Amino acid sequence: MNDTVFTFGGDASHSNARQKDKTVTGGKGANLAEMAAIGLPVPPGFTIATDECVRYLKEGGDFSDELQAAVAKALQHIEKTAEKQFGDAADPLLVSVRSGARVSMPGMMDTVLNLGLNDETVEGLAATSGDPRFAWDSYRRFIQMYSDVVLGLDHGLFEEALEIAKEDKGFYNDTEMECEDWQALVAQYKAIVREELGESFPQDVHRQLWGAIRAVFDSWDSERAKVYRRLNDIPGDWGTAVNVQAMVFGNMGETSATGVAFTRDPATGERAYYGEYLINAQGEDVVAGIRTPQYLTRAAREAAGAKPLSMEEAMPDAYAELVQVFELLERHYRDMQDIEFTVERGKLWMLQTRSGKRTAKAALKLAVDMVGEGLIDEKTAILRVDPMALDQLLHPTLDPEAPRDVLTTGLPASPGAASGRIVLDADTAEQWSQRGEKVILVRVETSPEDIHGMHAAQGILTARGGMTSHAAVVARGMGRPCVSGAPGVSIDLKTRTLRIGERDLAEGDTLTLDGANGQVMAGQVATIEPELAGDFGVLMEWADRHRRMKVRTNAETPADCRMARQFGAEGIGLCRTEHMFFDASRIRAVREMILADDESGRRAALDKLLPEQRADFREIFEVMAGLPCTIRLLDPPLHEFLPHGDAEFEELANATGLGVDHLKRRAGELHEFNPMLGHRGCRLGITYPEIYEMQARAIFEAVCDVAQDSGAAPLPEVMIPLVATKRELELLRGLVDRIAAEVFAEKGCEVDYLVGTMIELPRAALMAGEIAEEARFFSFGTNDLTQTTLGVSRDDSARFLAQYVDRGIFARDPFVSLDIDGVGQLVEIAAERGRATRGDIKLGICGEHGGDPASIAFCEQVGLDYVSASPYRVPIARLAAAQAALR
Ligand code: ADP
Ligand code: MG
Ligand code: MG
Repeated sequence: MNDTVFTFGGDASHSNARQKDKTVTGGKGANLAEMAAIGLPVPPGFTIATDECVRYLKEGGDFSDELQAAVAKALQHIEKTAEKQFGDAADPLLVSVRSGARVSMPGMMDTVLNLGLNDETVEGLAATSGDPRFAWDSYRRFIQMYSDVVLGLDHGLFEEALEIAKEDKGFYNDTEMECEDWQALVAQYKAIVREELGESFPQDVHRQLWGAIRAVFDSWDSERAKVYRRLNDIPGDWGTAVNVQAMVFGNMGETSATGVAFTRDPATGERAYYGEYLINAQGEDVVAGIRTPQYLTRAAREAAGAKPLSMEEAMPDAYAELVQVFELLERHYRDMQDIEFTVERGKLWMLQTRSGKRTAKAALKLAVDMVGEGLIDEKTAILRVDPMALDQLLHPTLDPEAPRDVLTTGLPASPGAASGRIVLDADTAEQWSQRGEKVILVRVETSPEDIHGMHAAQGILTARGGMTSHAAVVARGMGRPCVSGAPGVSIDLKTRTLRIGERDLAEGDTLTLDGANGQVMAGQVATIEPELAGDFGVLMEWADRHRRMKVRTNAETPADCRMARQFGAEGIGLCRTEHMFFDASRIRAVREMILADDESGRRAALDKLLPEQRADFREIFEVMAGLPCTIRLLDPPLHEFLPHGDAEFEELANATGLGVDHLKRRAGELHEFNPMLGHRGCRLGITYPEIYEMQARAIFEAVCDVAQDSGAAPLPEVMIPLVATKRELELLRGLVDRIAAEVFAEKGCEVDYLVGTMIELPRAALMAGEIAEEARFFSFGTNDLTQTTLGVSRDDSARFLAQYVDRGIFARDPFVSLDIDGVGQLVEIAAERGRATRGDIKLGICGEHGGDPASIAFCEQVGLDYVSASPYRVPIARLAAAQAALR
């Protein structure tokens, strides 16, 4: 046995550790071998390891003699087990050639079915099956798929020919086509290939096989696969495995079928078998939404009021066996499974199993239920839920009390509520969303090429397709609400209009979807805030028990603070005081202050701001009673607050009595070439100390007021931004201490407080040992630390960053997920040197990274005391912190 080709099924050994490793054989290959090993009916086959794909894509060219020999040998294993020969004109073996990466990428890469058919073997298949119609149906499927996937011909050409053939006959369904009809179509298909390609459809089965293997490898680098990888953080260097497997046929008449099933409901997590099947069809038909599939269980069929018999009713024996397989697989994998199966003349065959993609709601229910059932323990449950998926549950849902103008009701394919303007294709979805519009993508059916548009959309509506259609599966994976198979939706792409139920609409009109019940509504429907109840609450409690780091929030309004506390925030990690300056009623005083000619002018304006800031802090401190609150003194360059346009200058001139020209000249003086590195942060505090004095006074007066009124003061942590040297902090700490002492004396009240700094410049990180002499805490401002370490401006990086990620220069966007190798090193150095000076120095992170699970895992490693995230990300951070502690 070669170490890159592994056989499964029949008498294959299945004991090779490499074969069980998904990084080697891919998810599909590893699980096929596993299913065969535990005795499930799996058609025999073999897997070519991902290494071969990586090698092929890097080196290109021909396959090695070694690989060719190994494949030939593995093919013999299939032949022996299936008792048929590949290319045998009398009784041919047919195979599928399937992609299968380490993690599932549904529909993103290619598969070819019925491979091994040609003008001779099709006759053999007709004779041995006793069903010529089936044989020719398989042949036309093969030519179409192979031409599309391997020969690169437009599948539309073939579909069109099929549509015309059906129309000529007055048929509606493919199943009405007779043997002769398929024969005629095959002739047409072959003509199309000759015309488009200038050569005939390949008849040599070995050439077919290697062509398909090559195409599967190539599909790893297809555009849609790349987009999918980028959206899902899948590295480009993994490659895909190739699975070659004996065909079993769901299209052999009324006792044959193909289906997709989940061992539990992937939308809700309920304990109910869930799935769809199609009689007399092949695998692709279900996902492609060619016919509307039938229900698996009788209960589901009855609940939907559908007529066509469920599998439970139509094929009770195969169904009973399938249910046994469900139970076995769940016990074996200890997780909800997503399964593909085929019934060939009454006999059940398993074609795939994997842990099923699920909505966040289902993920929580499954985790909590399975702990209750004793299938998994609490730690496994915590580790199993993807923190980022919780995002889906942390957004507003439709208000049940709000009026709904329901146009139609389709299948509830992916839960959640979405409102937005109708767009009719994926490119438009992307364009409109890039200019800030919320959009709903409305399609007849989505295909893998639509993935970028689905990502850009708030929600997806399709006219056709079932609960396991491409749109449904991808939408659930992305957490996008989706309604599929909605009746009465017709789209006219020429006029960019559509009709839903009785209503005529156009692209751009607003639509609301409720993915939980399938409702499609006109206009916008009111929403309500989410809460952490039920399974969500339970899992959060478990997470809290297992995490070490505290979780705080980045917030500057009382409403955000309240929300964050409901989500479990244990303090404020970053309160950006400048956000309070932008308030319409204050901006004039701020501008007056900035444009004042001298200190006394500035002080007069600051006096107007003081009561306002104090009131802000007071409200926040009341909400955060007893908790630590890090408040950053003014950080951005002053010119950010300046008036824009003549009208605003005139208004300010009237209010201040200063001339417009004078104001404009002052504003001009504040211009900076590179404000990010300019007169900002603590540099403002050094040059205009009266600004920081006012802010410190507002903080201490507010905290004293709260302490005196309620007895429950928070712990203010006054944070000086953009410090590079110890001396800066020494001066400004002196200022803050002085104001604190003044206020405490005036109020006759003393409270605890800390003064510390943000670490957001490489110099500060390196000099942390010295700076810690003046700082009681460090908060890693990783947004600026990333900008200053990489020399990349976040706001200007959009033009090149996507390419940088695509081409593997950065593994991920460093502003989303911390650059651990580079920026992370500075964090580690600063933490270490800070602690060496001051053993009890408090360490936290307040950059955007505080809500990113991978970055949180790094913070755990460095031993930070807390992470801080925006309010909606607090639960994500709680779970991620627990996972980091458990790993
Ligand atoms: P995907 O990853 O897109 O699901 P698959 O390789 O799983 O692609 O195959 C596509 C469809 O073809 C599935 O429905 C699958 O069950 C079916 N299929 C794959 N191999 C076989 C086979 N050997 N016999 C019958 N159906 C098959
Ligand atoms: Mg599959
Ligand atoms: Mg900063």
